[in-house]
Amino acid sequence: MIEIVANLHMHTPYSDGTWFHRDIAAAASRARIQAICVTDHNVHVGGVEGYHSGVLVLVGEEVHDYSRRPQANHLLTYGAGDGISTFASRSQKLMDEIHARGGLAFPAHPIEYASPLDRELDKYPWVDWDVRGFDGIEIWNFMTEWKRSMKLPQALIAFLFPSLLIRGPFRPTLNLWDKLIAREGRMNGIGNSDAHGIVVRRGPIHKTIFDYAYLFRCVNTHLLIDKPLTRDFATDKRMVLDALRAGRAFVGYDLGRSSRGFSFKAASGTARAEMGEDFKRRSIVTFEVRCPGVGLIKLLKDGVVVARSFGRTLHHQSIEPGAYRVEVYRFFRLWMRGWIFSNPIYIT
Ligand SMILES: [Zn+2]
Ligand SMILES: [Zn+2]
Repeated sequence: MIEIVANLHMHTPYSDGTWFHRDIAAAASRARIQAICVTDHNVHVGGVEGYHSGVLVLVGEEVHDYSRRPQANHLLTYGAGDGISTFASRSQKLMDEIHARGGLAFPAHPIEYASPLDRELDKYPWVDWDVRGFDGIEIWNFMTEWKRSMKLPQALIAFLFPSLLIRGPFRPTLNLWDKLIAREGRMNGIGNSDAHGIVVRRGPIHKTIFDYAYLFRCVNTHLLIDKPLTRDFATDKRMVLDALRAGRAFVGYDLGRSSRGFSFKAASGTARAEMGEDFKRRSIVTFEVRCPGVGLIKLLKDGVVVARSFGRTLHHQSIEPGAYRVEVYRFFRLWMRGWIFSNPIYIT
């Protein structure tokens, strides 16, 4: 498998972002990201997919019902094509239509907290949990976490030095993810920037919250694809969507140290699995975690920590079936912060 770094949630002036696709692709290239998916609100922008600045640029959509009060249920869709937002007011119908078109559906920022400081920083959680058929959820959204940190007394720090307050996915979101994995049997996790590049003015201070280039160095989804990107757009788009569909991915916070090179594998007899894969155990299962740097590595089974290690590797053996996933934390800017969150390996 070949690892590529992707960011799958951002906006352009076609909705509420500030940069157009080609400029965003150039920023992604500078951040050494190989693939992006632009997800404007309720609009599928045509004619811009392709390779720009050496970056694979896909177009998805962030669909929600503008007429709903209060606002909620932002759904990231990939590979579903144009016109999908006409189903926004009926979540199950929307989900079914996305899948009928061969697309994928991930609730964006499923748990959100409003900032008390600005009505613009309201919360938009997912609330229609009786809907079935999600391919996964967005477990970590940089802007969602930043929005939560925009409160007193720390607002100025959040405004000027966001990385001092970015700590990792919300624990309730990780707990929700584990519950959904138990309910559905499998559920993929992704992490993204939600970049808008909006300029905020407060008196003499003008600040971009936050520019695309900065955010592409922060929370990304690392995908494992079948072979190196070919530069043939249709082939590469299919490989990216296949990896997303299969959950062959982990979420990395790449600002302090890139999470490139992380691996999580399981083996039992001749059976082997990577993130997102499954196998039926025949004997004892051996798990191996490798990190590109030192961190606190936790192996979880069905949401419960079963092994931990401080260093670059973790080895564990078990005969228990379950959904196994990994969380890694590293010391960065005076705090232990979330670094890597793997998708599960499913042992039956
Ligand atoms: Zn949203
Ligand atoms: Zn968004």
